Amino acid sequence: MSFETLTTWRARLAQGELSARELAESYLARAQALNPTLNAFVHLDGDEVLKQAEASDAHRAAHGARPLEGLPIAIKDIFCTQDGPTQCCSRILKGYHAPYDAHVITLLKEAGAVLFGKTNMDEFAMGSSNETSAFGPCRNPWDVSRIPGGSSGGSACAVAAGMAPAALGTDTGGSIRQPAALCGITGMKPTYGRVSRRGIIAFASSLDQAGPMTRSVEDTALLASVLCGHDPADATSVADARAVDWLGACRARDMRGLRIGRPREYFIDGMDEGVARAVDAAFETCRVLGAEIVDVSLPHTSAAVAAYYVIAPSEASANLARYDGVRFGHRCDAPADLLDMYTRTRDEGFGAEVKRRILTGTFALSSGYYDAYYLKAQKVRTLIRQDFEQAFARVDVLLTPTSPVPAFRIGEKTDDPLTMYLSDVFTIAVNLAGLPALSQPCGFAHGLPVGMQWIAPAWHEDRILAAASAYEAATDWLARTPELEGEQ
Ligand code: GLN
Repeated sequence: MSFETLTTWRARLAQGELSARELAESYLARAQALNPTLNAFVHLDGDEVLKQAEASDAHRAAHGARPLEGLPIAIKDIFCTQDGPTQCCSRILKGYHAPYDAHVITLLKEAGAVLFGKTNMDEFAMGSSNETSAFGPCRNPWDVSRIPGGSSGGSACAVAAGMAPAALGTDTGGSIRQPAALCGITGMKPTYGRVSRRGIIAFASSLDQAGPMTRSVEDTALLASVLCGHDPADATSVADARAVDWLGACRARDMRGLRIGRPREYFIDGMDEGVARAVDAAFETCRVLGAEIVDVSLPHTSAAVAAYYVIAPSEASANLARYDGVRFGHRCDAPADLLDMYTRTRDEGFGAEVKRRILTGTFALSSGYYDAYYLKAQKVRTLIRQDFEQAFARVDVLLTPTSPVPAFRIGEKTDDPLTMYLSDVFTIAVNLAGLPALSQPCGFAHGLPVGMQWIAPAWHEDRILAAASAYEAATDWLARTPELEGEQ
């Protein structure tokens, strides 16, 4: 019952089979039973959840249902919410309460959703494994000795374990798609500019984008349709950012005649064989469903990770300057003077990975190094965007693995940041180019979920939703669920 989709719950609530309160109660019971093992939620206030669910039932009775009426949605700890803490899983924001809701939180509330706790994540969304969280690692429900992916690991884990039917994540270099892949769920990063970033704690502002993490493709379309739209308070929000009938695009479930590009640079040495097999089989399924597979090249792919790890830390070093002990969260005890307060507060408040990014970014932006690193990385970014433009002159969408490996063991890569950074090799270029991309389950390797990634030209989420839902309907990955001890 916990593994139903939003779409199913929406229909059952509409038919009066159960109330929003009953639905919330059942997810709360399961989330509370599993959380001591999985650590997916860093904050979950049952009374607050039930209060919202009751208000939703009352709204339905008095005025009818809104698009997400009564549906529980778990929220990554990076979104500012007026209720409960917003800590970005960092010690420096310990006990911080945001004075306002992020724009997307306002949209969820207006759509009737029930905000279902705050989920675990890498500190300030910097990581690929959820291990940099100040609240300790989250675990993969398919194998609790493994990571769920990151940075939106708690959101992916919660949905995969049936602790919530859907969640919000953010994606700066793969943080929705990679954990979705490693936990066996669906997640989409919309086109940059579709979703307002207001009230989302900033990591790398030219790359950050919020999006849905759900069980099915249709659920992704449903939730994304609510999140997207113009916000005059975010300068990067585009005027006609509204979704255009994405549910309709999903329901066609048709990929006949679709030209799918297979970028040769995404099938690399060192990729796990089980992942390669699963993605190859998915290409074959798409061909059987009527798509045409075209070999394409994205020649600058190998430079994407390097460019990202200059640009993202540079932006982060500027964004994180605001955590100085004056305005937000943690402040060190008994500072001797102002400088002592800044340095000790930041030293105590930030974890090792966040410090590494701030130092790298500050270095890359400093005079004398700016041209050699930051400017060069921006030029590489342009080349990567042009690679995609050239590929999309020949094909409608691209299909790739989401991650070169399935979920790895907790602790396996923590001493080697470079290896950790390389696990983003297939997701990062999409952010640099501002494109929409979706990860969906496409099989298993070594008993662990494998995900594949659809990429479309900017503003063409409809294409990937149509293709992904056609693939989903032809396979049964959605029906597979992890077995967990202590299940309710
Ligand atoms: N893993 C990448 C990083 O550590 C991406 C993170 C993200 O998308 N927020 O920067």
